Amino acid sequence: MSDRRERLARLDRLMGRLKEHGLRMTPQRAAILRALVMDPNHPSVETLHRRLVADYPNMSLATVYKTMNLLKELGEVRELEFSSRDNRFDGFIPQPHPHLICTRCGRIIDPDVPELKDLIENLVHATGFDVQSHRLDFYGLCPSCLKKD
Ligand code: ZN
Ligand code: MN
Repeated sequence: MSDRRERLARLDRLMGRLKEHGLRMTPQRAAILRALVMDPNHPSVETLHRRLVADYPNMSLATVYKTMNLLKELGEVRELEFSSRDNRFDGFIPQPHPHLICTRCGRIIDPDVPELKDLIENLVHATGFDVQSHRLDFYGLCPSCLKKD
């Protein structure tokens, strides 16, 4: 949903946050952050690692895990947990937001759902519940998988 400039700004922010926490910005770590924010598809740690070892043969899976977990602790990355597939990471939108998930190719995208704010407000109003977070997943087939049918 976002253009390259927004993604680069996001990359800057993530780098800044890690530096604030005393982490040295090694080329490996910078490459992990870059791979994360440039991927529109909510990558798994394994996907990021597979992509990164081509350029960084010494990159360990543990390094990618540690970086994701730290970003998650800092509230800069959202982890989507699944029971039947690898966990996926959103490095672009850390706040709760809906997802469209393709059950065939595993693609995950961020749809615009302008009605969501009203929906939550109505829920709060109707139930008195203090809604602080949500998980809203829509499962189905993405346009490119549909085309292959
Ligand atoms: Zn698909
Ligand atoms: Mn997302």
